[in-house]
Amino acid sequence: MKLSDSVQIVSGVGPKKQNRLNGIGIYTIEDLLHYFPRTYEDRSHFTQLSRLKAGEKACVKGRITGVENKKLKKNLSIIKIAVSDNEARVDLIFFNREHLLRGYKVGQEIKAYGKVKKNGKSTEIECSVIEFASADKSALGRIVPVYPSTEGLSSNEIEKIEKAALDDIVRQGEPGGMEDVIPADIRKRHKLCSVRYAIENIHAPSSRDALKIALYRLIFEEFFLMVCKAIYNGFKLRSNNAVRMAVSPAIPGIIERLPFSLTDAQRRAMDDIFEDMQGQNAMNRLIQGDVGSGKTVVAGIPMANCVLNGFQSIMMVPTEVLANQHFNSIKKMLSHEAIKIRLLTGSTRPAEKESIYEELGSGDIDILVGTHALIQPGIRLKRLGLAVTDEQHRFGVRQRLMLAEKGESPHFISMSATPIPRSLALAAYADMDISIIDELPKGRKAIRTQLFKKRDRQKAYAFALEQIKSGRQAYVVCPLIEASDEKNKSISVQHVYAELEAGIFKGHKVALLHGRLPQEQKQAVMADFENGITDVLVSTTVIEVGIDVKNASVIIIEGAEQFGLSQLHQLRGRVGRGECDSYCMLIQQGGNDESERLNVLVQSNSGFEIAEKDMLMRGPGEISGIRQHGYFKFKLADISRHVKILEAAKLCAKELFEADAELEGAQNTNLKAAVMAEAADEADIFVN
Ligand code: ADP
Ligand code: MG
Repeated sequence: MKLSDSVQIVSGVGPKKQNRLNGIGIYTIEDLLHYFPRTYEDRSHFTQLSRLKAGEKACVKGRITGVENKKLKKNLSIIKIAVSDNEARVDLIFFNREHLLRGYKVGQEIKAYGKVKKNGKSTEIECSVIEFASADKSALGRIVPVYPSTEGLSSNEIEKIEKAALDDIVRQGEPGGMEDVIPADIRKRHKLCSVRYAIENIHAPSSRDALKIALYRLIFEEFFLMVCKAIYNGFKLRSNNAVRMAVSPAIPGIIERLPFSLTDAQRRAMDDIFEDMQGQNAMNRLIQGDVGSGKTVVAGIPMANCVLNGFQSIMMVPTEVLANQHFNSIKKMLSHEAIKIRLLTGSTRPAEKESIYEELGSGDIDILVGTHALIQPGIRLKRLGLAVTDEQHRFGVRQRLMLAEKGESPHFISMSATPIPRSLALAAYADMDISIIDELPKGRKAIRTQLFKKRDRQKAYAFALEQIKSGRQAYVVCPLIEASDEKNKSISVQHVYAELEAGIFKGHKVALLHGRLPQEQKQAVMADFENGITDVLVSTTVIEVGIDVKNASVIIIEGAEQFGLSQLHQLRGRVGRGECDSYCMLIQQGGNDESERLNVLVQSNSGFEIAEKDMLMRGPGEISGIRQHGYFKFKLADISRHVKILEAAKLCAKELFEADAELEGAQNTNLKAAVMAEAADEADIFVN
């Protein structure tokens, strides 16, 4: 018998059962052995009758002292079997089980299992199992697995089939075909049992401890394989001949000359990066931090360090606006250094493009900031040392890979302003190390957030008008471009724009922005708003990234319940970027059931806290737009409950790839086969 054999050859599986097994996705012996119990009933200990507690399930032993059969209705009979041990007496209750119980007589020794109920002084057990004390193939006195059952296939039957397969394959010894995907040295170091022991004890635990050991090993394995797949198939930055870059003596001076002092969180993240850069494994690090937490400088200084080590560095961002912004701030930051910085976007003129291409190739340009234009085939760099992406969720694995492939084995930094719970980040970014910037620069004012019902929305606009009159600017965000029906009108950007321009904001400059406008027009609209020419920008979510207008003090979000909490938090981050007090007004279109969710935003300004709450309310699968490609579908592991195991597995996988990047070692043969079975695309996670 081999793992790849059909379940049909397991004794006790005929065509009918085979069909049913197929129905729940079990085709091979391997599938069968990886069909795990949903839970267990611990029937390994017998409880004395005097110690039974109401509500518990318990196993008991005793001598029958009476049998009573009551027919209540035509279809309902109750059998009461009185049982006693030396100390107490209980009644075992069975419904409609006459035929089963015919053999049980006064004086016999029995054992039984069921749920304990107290009824005044008397104790009853509503029983699901009864056996003679002498029964050898017992369903009692052990830990019993409960399988997810299905039509025509009970948990009991599945257990029998599992046992038969176990007997055949696991207990027969070699060659059982049970290859361990976890290399022996790792098993030893992490005290993991063998796969054989794990599979045997997950189905037929010999004790509670054995079950724990088996569970731990299998959960570890699920995480370990996920991470190994992500590293191996996803983003191949596992080269161990990256350039080691020391921290240049010029770095402290650059930090000193910043117009602000770094927050502790920024320092920690930068230390992580510098440590990675000194190693010979290419860094692949994600910097996660709320909007405004100051990620740009955390990547910008290492970019300078890369240049000071004699290499080039590039930064790719999703929009032209952002590219401009980063280009300017990095230039300002490094204005004292002899570092040549250029900008490349879709609107760079051909002649200039030409010269940039040339200077990149010759090594004249030290730092290049740009959009997708950076991954065009024409771009060649002389010696790329560090590549950075901002708003990394806007890029797929392939695009990041293309960027990294502009060099030999460059270090890599991704930045993300989508805070997600730590446990989820560990899994979602399985192939990356993560630094979290969970602190805003000092002096930042919290944004005041208020929730309005639709009927009160004029109050929000009246407030915005006050702000505009005092010289501030406002955003109005709508979920739709145009209304598909009358009901949607009030959340469509075109309708709201028309309404506001002719209504409350009459006499002020109101502009319309959405994704369907031509590129030049979009840029002109944004530029006008950035330069303070426009007072109110009525927009769809295109403003989510890349606009940084310090004078904007209010954002009104129509149809707020249409957005995820993290997205709302992201939108809210458009204000509060300067010195002025800032406000976010959420206008709720629909019913009250969304109020609780939206109130999370009113109460918290921390993206990480909001993401945690979002996960609690909607479950990890729904969180902040992380779309899963069959990715978190673990059988036993649960990322929110098993964070520690996930961390251990991740560290372990990382060490393994550092030692054997291509999994060429003989000890890694089985692992390599398992890891290669996964297509590259499946390791990709889309966040938006
Ligand atoms: P993020 O990309 O994380 O949203 P940015 O890097 O754009 O944030 O920084 C937001 C603003 O905060 C910028 O104007 C930046 O110069 C400023 N900034 C960054 N770090 C600090 C700091 N430690 N103290 C004060 N201001 C800071
Ligand atoms: Mg940023």
